[in-house]
Amino acid sequence: MDKKSVRDLDVRGKRVLVRVDFNVPVKDGQVTDDTRIQRALPTIRYLLSEGARPILISHLGRPKGERDPKYAMDPVARRLGELLDVPVLKLDDAVGPEAEEKLNSWDGQGVVLLENSRFYPGETKNDTEFSKQLASLADLYVDDAFGAAHRAHATTVGVAELLPSAAGLLMEEEIDYLDGVLKNPERPFVAILGGAKVSDKLGVIKSLLDKADILLIGGAMCFTFFKAQGYEIGNSLVEEDYLDEAKQLMQEAGDKLVLPVDVVVAEKMEEDAESRTVPVDSIPANQMGLDIGPETVELFRGHITDARTIFWNGPMGVFEIDAFAKGTEGVAKAVAESGATSVIGGGDSVAAVRKLGLEDRMSHISTGGGASLEYVEGKELPGIAVLPNREGA
Ligand code: ADP
Ligand code: MG
Repeated sequence: MDKKSVRDLDVRGKRVLVRVDFNVPVKDGQVTDDTRIQRALPTIRYLLSEGARPILISHLGRPKGERDPKYAMDPVARRLGELLDVPVLKLDDAVGPEAEEKLNSWDGQGVVLLENSRFYPGETKNDTEFSKQLASLADLYVDDAFGAAHRAHATTVGVAELLPSAAGLLMEEEIDYLDGVLKNPERPFVAILGGAKVSDKLGVIKSLLDKADILLIGGAMCFTFFKAQGYEIGNSLVEEDYLDEAKQLMQEAGDKLVLPVDVVVAEKMEEDAESRTVPVDSIPANQMGLDIGPETVELFRGHITDARTIFWNGPMGVFEIDAFAKGTEGVAKAVAESGATSVIGGGDSVAAVRKLGLEDRMSHISTGGGASLEYVEGKELPGIAVLPNREGA
């Protein structure tokens, strides 16, 4: 990573404002999935071990710039306290006189967690005044929220312009793995794309066609390609507006682009729907394609087994329903067994890998859905761009 790291800062005795991604699911006052909190722990522990005073801030949900008790950080503070085993002082504000007063009387033990940044309209507007108020709370700023780095908000960009700044350890890991894939992959580099929409991921497909040796396409997006080839696709999901683009991509890509050879079809996207496997040129008009078929899994497995580097985004089928989860499962197992450096991005792809209990078998699971896709597309993420480079980098 060319960016300055938290390890390059002299943090001892300093108040360090840390932007974390604690945007976790909460139900009945309980955090139901603490993955994002867990992933922020290395930076927090590092800061504590170096004698810093971490002041954490995150957004949670979409409270629209005003206080909404439903999105208060209290459940997060409780879970964080259990995981860290140090005191967590949770404030009911993110900025302002009361927050300042409480920080001034803080004994410096453990960590402070500020209130939800999106309780303030200045957050998403990247408002200068709000950024100044945040900056006044700390000596240094560390950004560990890769999942929010594609947004130019006050806690990701504004405050970074006002304080000496650096990337946190999770941010560093995300950048290092994604850069490893994009800039200098060990070959063969196999990219796997699936999920719902071609339009969402067109930029990603183009970028990966440039960089990867093989691009495997499954999920709903393959039907736009099949339709562009003139196949009957029945009631499968398709994006009519992208047929020309799909055709052009196939021409440019040649053998690099590998599409399914068989698909699992059913009349409805339902658990008890009767399903069967058909070749891709024989999809019945009253059926829809909901997963890649077993021959395709074998075809994809062959490429995956040869790979030294893998990037995967988007499930191969409707994995939420068991009858249509086998394609995603087969691909996930192949990736786990490949021995390649494997990077998984995208909310649903990560959920699928976790459901299969294979997350420990992947080299890196990105915490950023949208952010990881924009990064792969080659876009500059504002939250990363604003961080200073290391000296000499
Ligand atoms: P990610 O979050 O990993 O980027 P997406 O959000 O793009 O992935 O897509 C995930 C969704 O795509 C899942 O809800 C899955 O059910 C759906 N999906 C995958 N294959 C199909 C298909 N053949 N038909 C309809 N939906 C599909
Ligand atoms: Mg998704």
